[in-house]
Amino acid sequence: MKFSDLGLSEDVLRAVTDAGYDTPTPIQSQAIPYVLMNRDLLGCAQTGTGKTASFTLPMIEILAHGRTRARMPRSLILEPTRELAAQVSEQFEVYGKHHKLSKALLIGGVSFAEQNTALDRGVDVLIATPGRLLDHAERGKVLLRDVKILVIDEADRMLDMGFMPDVEKIVSLLPQMRQTLFFSATMPPEIRRLSSKFLSNPKEVSVSPPATAAETISQALIRVSAKDKRKTLRDLIRAESVQNALIFCNRKRDVGVLHRSLQRHGFKAGALHGDMDQYSRTETLDKFKAGGFNILVCSDVAARGLDIPSMSHVFNFDVPTHADDYIHRIGRTGRAGKQGRAITLATSEDKRYLESIAKLIGYPIPKIEGFQAGESDTSPKADEKPVESRPQARRRSNNRRDKPSASKAAAPSQNRNRKAETRKAEPSVIAERDDIGNSVPFGQDEHVPAFLLRKP
Ligand code: AMP
Repeated sequence: MKFSDLGLSEDVLRAVTDAGYDTPTPIQSQAIPYVLMNRDLLGCAQTGTGKTASFTLPMIEILAHGRTRARMPRSLILEPTRELAAQVSEQFEVYGKHHKLSKALLIGGVSFAEQNTALDRGVDVLIATPGRLLDHAERGKVLLRDVKILVIDEADRMLDMGFMPDVEKIVSLLPQMRQTLFFSATMPPEIRRLSSKFLSNPKEVSVSPPATAAETISQALIRVSAKDKRKTLRDLIRAESVQNALIFCNRKRDVGVLHRSLQRHGFKAGALHGDMDQYSRTETLDKFKAGGFNILVCSDVAARGLDIPSMSHVFNFDVPTHADDYIHRIGRTGRAGKQGRAITLATSEDKRYLESIAKLIGYPIPKIEGFQAGESDTSPKADEKPVESRPQARRRSNNRRDKPSASKAAAPSQNRNRKAETRKAEPSVIAERDDIGNSVPFGQDEHVPAFLLRKP
């Protein structure tokens, strides 16, 4: 099957060729002809299968004729995250380069004024996250009764993130007579129920069974003790000849801890998590894509939608607690037919999460036996300090609270020496656990004098 067999016009075909694609992916060859026939579509496909082009290409075709009106978009694409929305917008740029379609991106973290200006000019394609779109709709800044094509992308993710009530509200503002394209990586019963509510006599296309990992990804599991995790990760990065990698942590605060740890060890690393503002997220991603650094430590905010075509590795520094997230995380590598490697570090406490991943993907993640953390790694040693037990940490913390003025009493030169000692020896102990067992970012306690940090 060739792109030219799908019913696309010369202009769109040229843009596809310019993008460097010669053969449609299975979801594209199955979906595009039906979308061009104005049929509703229920697509079961993960990211990485080329599903975005399976709706953007025929949409460009359909929207090529017709006029826009101020504040009345002609089509609407709903995405669960800002990153995904931004990515879809980029794909419209790439594939729509020979067309004059106008688009607007309504996502959180960007000023309303800018978005209002775009809406006022009239848009052919509106790409939005549900919350921000509703904000605009409630202020009367956007009217949805002219929408002819609706795309609900990553529906299972929308459901997980609690966005479905918003999506239902948005759909109620749309005309009944419209074409609806509904995509989901998995098809649990609730998603089926919702799809039958939104779609009318849809054509169903499915490119891989729900929740399977792409065959282009070689997966591996390494058993490790909690205290050896960072060192093992560093050794793996060195041993695996990583070109570029995403490293997933379960908690946002651990993203910061690991990021700084990797930087201290000389790796070119950046960090991305949901608490960063949109500007910093975009800036970080752009820098990563441009090769400014090759390791991105991230939370699950990057697990869906992040599209970097040749990502060589994904590391799960923590085993995800939701099996679905495992699929999405590792799906950042092995994309568009390329080979990728996904390595998961697991401690003895992760047993039940590994079991639910095995249940979902249909097999246990293959184990790498006998991987030894290398000896070459010398600095900074602080990372290898064992994690304190809770009683130890509590005693230390009490000590710290009891003796603050003692630091000031110490002779300055003595204090300086002690400080230097402390920085080398102690911070990662503190970084891993505070006195109630939570992790605390590096650096937070670096200015506490050494003798206050020493164990009693
Ligand atoms: P998606 O599943 O839409 O996130 O797309 C995954 C990746 O595949 C993106 O990097 C696309 O640019 C790329 N892609 C889409 N269609 C094709 C194609 N026909 N051939 C090769 N790569 C493609």
